[in-house]
Amino acid sequence: MRADAHWMPFTSNKAFHANPRMIQAASGMYWTTNDDRQILDMTAGLWCTNLGHGRERVAAAIYESATTLDYAPSFGFGHDSSFELADRLARLAPGDLNHVFFTNSGSEAVDTALKMAIAYHASNGQKGRKIFISRERAYHGVNLGGTAAGGIATNTRVFGRWGDVHHLADVLDIENNAFSRGLPANGIEKADELEHLINFHGAENVAAVIAEPIQGAGGVINPPEGYLARLREICSKHGVLLIFDEVVCAFGRTGSFSASQEFKVQPDMMILAKGLTSGTVPMGAVVCSSEIYQSVVKHSPVGIEFSHGYTYSAHPIACAAANACLDIYQEEQLFSRAHNGIGQYLEDVLHNFKDLPGVVDIRNYGLLGAVEFEATDEEVPTGVKVFLKAWENGLMVRGLGTAIVVSPPLIVEPAHIDEFAVKLVKSVGECI
Ligand code: PLP
Repeated sequence: MRADAHWMPFTSNKAFHANPRMIQAASGMYWTTNDDRQILDMTAGLWCTNLGHGRERVAAAIYESATTLDYAPSFGFGHDSSFELADRLARLAPGDLNHVFFTNSGSEAVDTALKMAIAYHASNGQKGRKIFISRERAYHGVNLGGTAAGGIATNTRVFGRWGDVHHLADVLDIENNAFSRGLPANGIEKADELEHLINFHGAENVAAVIAEPIQGAGGVINPPEGYLARLREICSKHGVLLIFDEVVCAFGRTGSFSASQEFKVQPDMMILAKGLTSGTVPMGAVVCSSEIYQSVVKHSPVGIEFSHGYTYSAHPIACAAANACLDIYQEEQLFSRAHNGIGQYLEDVLHNFKDLPGVVDIRNYGLLGAVEFEATDEEVPTGVKVFLKAWENGLMVRGLGTAIVVSPPLIVEPAHIDEFAVKLVKSVGECI
């Protein structure tokens, strides 16, 4: 077998082949490697397996769908489970976010939302509104719109910006906010730059602001107190749409269905993926306001109102998986679990790492956390070194530059967090 036939995504392919990390099975909170080691999953895979691994009920729903309706075309045809799922998501989403457009990933949902924003403004006779405003450190997936909106330089510089996107300054401020528990107190004024950018480019040219309520891949960066509400205020004043990319934050990560509800800030669109199917089948979605849907549908001439969609939009197997996941989230009350003691437990354990060597900041919210190490001149950044050592020690954390981040499945128990603490301290001790 040619091992390099598979060009691996977001991977140092050379380093991987020198030291492969192969996974053969997963159950509950643990992975099993090809050499039969158990690894504690403190990342829910890539922030997605919120229900933990190997849920029989989800597997049964997938099997049932694959053997009764394996596929149905989504352009001009329907099947019951997509309408059921859309209705359930619309009921869960805040305010008037009542319409759901299905995609197959977060990246596709991001690009769908950007196109939907342009289509909305055009439907209102404002065809000039095509500029987007994003944020430094943002991650909005890897399609062309999302890459342009991205705020992590290593992901975007090689490709250039395929859309007209401007970025708000980084809100991470270790000098003033280090070791904040939950939202940091300082930095709301950084949102005012939005007003400046809109005035500079002309509101008549600006389509939308896109923001992760908590930035995930940027390093678990919490918004300063009041920052998101200020963005909302400025967007509303200028007729600019506010898109929350909740690919990481939704489905219980913060202690509510969505971060919009957790932080009580109403967006015009919400982007979902990952936890939607708990990582089992690829699926994403954009949930938009009635105003956007009505405007695009009503003002469009006869025929297709929004010329956009994917062969696998609303795929029956993905819908079946998502509906089964929603059943479990609701029966086990997992959306609010982060508020029922376990989020606090994780916070306390994380902040106990304060005196480990090289630690300069610790951040957390709900079941999200980050430990930031001092930057060094070494080729491999500290977060990656700790991740590699932790893997050897039976622990999965994510190494993101100078930080390690965690986002455990929502079923995590205190004993798992204790195991994480022991393994992390050992790993830091062995590599720093
Ligand atoms: N948006 C955010 C906030 C994400 O974190 C991600 C993935 O990590 C995406 C979009 C892209 O999702 P996908 O990898 O499913 O395309």
